[in-house]
Order: sequence, then C-alpha cells, then structure tokens
Amino acid sequence: MESLASLCKRRGFIFQSSEIYGGINGFWDYGPLGCELKANIRDLWWRNIVRERDNVAGLDASIIMHPRVWEASGHVGGFADPMVDCRDCRRRYKADALCEEQNAQLQESEGRLSLPDGVVCTGCGSKNLTEPRAFNLMFSTHVGPVADASAMAYLRPETAQGIFADFSQILTVSRMKVPFGIAQIGKAFRNEINPRNYIFRSREFEQMELEFFIKPGEDTEWHEYWVSERLKWYDMIGLPAASLETFTYPPDELAHYAVACVDIKYAFPFGVQELEGIAARGNYDLSRHAEYSGKSQDYFDPETNERFVPHVIEPSAGVDRIALALLCNAYCEEWIPKNNTDGEPRPADPGAKRPPEGYEARTVMRFSPRIAPVKAGVFPLVKNKPELVAKARIVYEQLRRRWNCFWDQTGAIGRRYRRQDEIGTPFGVTIDFQTLDDDTVTLRDRDTMQQTRVALDELMPRMEQQIEP
Ligand code: ATP
Repeated sequence: MESLASLCKRRGFIFQSSEIYGGINGFWDYGPLGCELKANIRDLWWRNIVRERDNVAGLDASIIMHPRVWEASGHVGGFADPMVDCRDCRRRYKADALCEEQNAQLQESEGRLSLPDGVVCTGCGSKNLTEPRAFNLMFSTHVGPVADASAMAYLRPETAQGIFADFSQILTVSRMKVPFGIAQIGKAFRNEINPRNYIFRSREFEQMELEFFIKPGEDTEWHEYWVSERLKWYDMIGLPAASLETFTYPPDELAHYAVACVDIKYAFPFGVQELEGIAARGNYDLSRHAEYSGKSQDYFDPETNERFVPHVIEPSAGVDRIALALLCNAYCEEWIPKNNTDGEPRPADPGAKRPPEGYEARTVMRFSPRIAPVKAGVFPLVKNKPELVAKARIVYEQLRRRWNCFWDQTGAIGRRYRRQDEIGTPFGVTIDFQTLDDDTVTLRDRDTMQQTRVALDELMPRMEQQIEP
C-alpha cells in the first residue's frame, strides 16, 4: 500500500486534501490522473446502467435536501455508529472495528452495547476505554443566515434518497413502466469516526447508485439479475470475478425490510472489503416518504389495473473504493531485460534488493485499456527535427480528439516509455524517420513491451479494439 500511495502522490493520482495546511483527516484530492481515472469509472457505469438500457433514467439531485427526507429515510434516528474513546491517548474508534481487529465481538444486552473484556486501545495499549456510544454520521449545516434549529440541514450521507424523493416526478416525465430504474452519481458525506485505509473510508466520497423499481414478489429474480449484471461490469473494467468475492447476507443479518443483500468485495492489502452492496429493499423507502410527505408514491399498472408501491433493488457502489481496487489490482513491480533486448518481463522477487544481471526494474500499472487514465503516449523520436515533430503533432492531435493522450518529446525513448508504464498508459506511439517516408509508426504495448510497425490508417482501429471493444 505504501509503494502504491507514494506512486499515486508522485504521479498525480491522489493527494491529501489541503496538504499545505497539514491535511484534513478523511478528505482526499484527485490529481490530473486520478480525476481521469474516476471520470472513466463514472462514464463506464453511466453508459452501462443508463445509456444502454431503455428502462433506466438519470438524475442529478441536490446534495442538501429538505431535512424531513432524512427523518423519513431513518438517517436522523438511526444512522449512527457506536464509538469508543481512549481516555489516555484520546484516540477514537468505531467500537465494532476495534473489537474485530482483536478477534472479539461487540456485546449487546437489553439494547446496550459494551466492549468485551480484554479489548484495548490499539494505539497505546490502554484498557481505559469509554463505553460505546452512538454517534450520528451525518454532517449537519444551517441553511440561510440564522443558525438555529429550524434552519438545520444535512449533507446527504447517500445519493439514494434523492432518487426516492423524486420518484413520482421522474415516473411522470419519463413515462417508463415498472420495471424501471433511476440512477444517480454524486458526492456523499459521512462523518466517519475513524477514516482510514487511504481513500477506502473517507468522509467525503462519491457514490453511483441505481434504484430499480419492480413489481412486489419479483424481488429475488431481479436481485439475482442485478448481482450478475454488476459482476459483468466489474469484469469489463478489469476486475474479473477471480479478483472479487461476493458475500450473501444470512437472513438474520438483513435489515428488517430487506429481502436479500449481496456485497461485492475486493481483497485489498488491508483485507477483503466492500466495493458495492446490492440490496433488495422491499418498498421501505417509498412507503416512508409517502408517510412523511403525505404524498402517494403508488404506481398504477395500466395493464393489470393494479395499484402498488413498487419494491426496489439497489446496487450501490463507491467510486473511490472502485478506484482504489483498480489501482491495487493494476500495481505491479517487475524486472525487464535492459535496453529492450530479448526476454520477457518477469515479476520482481520481493526478497531481492536489485534485479539480476541484464535486467532493470520497472513499475507498471496494468490498467485495462478501457479504464486507463491516459490511453496513449505520443513521442517524436527526436525533438530537434521540426519535420518529424510536426508529423508527430498531427498524429497526437488526431488521437486526442478521441482519447486522453500525452505528448512527450523529452529524454531517451526508453525512459519516456517507462514514465507511461508507471501511470498505466496502454499504448506508446513513436514517430520516427521512417514515418516521414511511409506513414507508419511504432506501436508499443505496455504489458508485453512489444513494438509493431503500424500504418497510420490502422492506428486508431487497432487502439479502438482494446479501448472500446
Ligand atoms: P461500510 O460498511 O464499509 O461503512 P456501508 O455498508 O455503510 O459501507 P453503504 O451505505 O452500503 O456502505 O454505501 C454504499 C457504497 O458507498 C459502499 O459500498 C462504498 O463503496 C461506498 N461508501 C460508503 N461509505 C464510504 C466511505 N466512508 N468512504 C468511501 N466510500 C464509501
């Protein structure tokens, strides 16, 4: 994780927020490459969930909503984590996570939580811990000039409630029929007790949520459908089933209104953790909004003349966690033959200080071409031949109209390739003297490092096959 985090900082994927002021815990900035990576995740999700389906519509709801939304959703009353403080070193923990780390389980008796004997502060080893107490994770603020209780509002802790609150309006304008979905991507905020594991658990993050409304009784089949659709999507962005785990909640661990829930997890260096939850939530949310707003959230089925509150399947994923999984999955240290002489790259031996004779080390991010922040590096072989540079510039302009590309004319060509390997650029396009004669370029593959001569007319179709198959 340390090597990855240092690469992410050095190459401009991820920075600590407000670092010049010492940073702020639980908040992160995405640099030039990080925001391209996130944009690709969002785009591929939006394309797969909204654009390529007839029965899903998009929404971009406000972050601050009427405070009653959060009463109806249950967040005001129940969106709390039990926390404990160390009285000696003042560290604060999520009580369940602290227990779990020490192979213990938080105890509950008559609605009261307590720590089992033997659980200590992992920071200083002290046993002097407070009793667990509930801590609401919502960030509150005030709307307007007077900061009193009547002006109180919350930053949304999830994007889903914007969808439920607008359900009937979208139903009217889109004229869709059940089953149909509403999708939203946006920021969510949770005042996490203990933000940690880099960008995995932060206080400001981004969600991609779909609420898929169905006829009551069809919950199980639609839930299975969405679990399978989502796994296909992960495979498509370069996280194949072998790199993921699914966890099906046993019935006694489900929320009281839920019919089923499956988490999609990734084996991070710090443990197997959730990327996405796919829940069959019954009609809990719409019914609660009907009750709290006094406005019906019924759906009328014109074919069967039935009126009902639709049930919902909710695939809810985190952009930041998916970005982190992609970064972890792509990161690779290997040894390659020096000066591109014959021989295959091979995994670096973690025990060895340096590569064997004739080899050098390279760090390569093996992103799938679909998700890679930069698709191609374009290189004029030398920078002091205006004709060659001009030709390379034409190729570059052509490619970047379509994809995010990087122009680099400085340094030895091997070093330029290596700089792109480190950020996961799948293609290197080198323009040399032969290009001026016959309109061919060298196309270099990041993973195999093989170089092939390609006619300029063939270049885009060749790249397209891998970037947008
Ligand atoms: P966890 O148990 O890890 O706190 P959760 O089950 O509370 O997560 P959900 O409420 O189901 O999470 O939110 C849906 C998705 O939003 C999660 O699968 C995750 O990808 C993302 N997410 C939730 N909380 C955070 C956070 N603090 N930082 C980054 N992403 C988050």
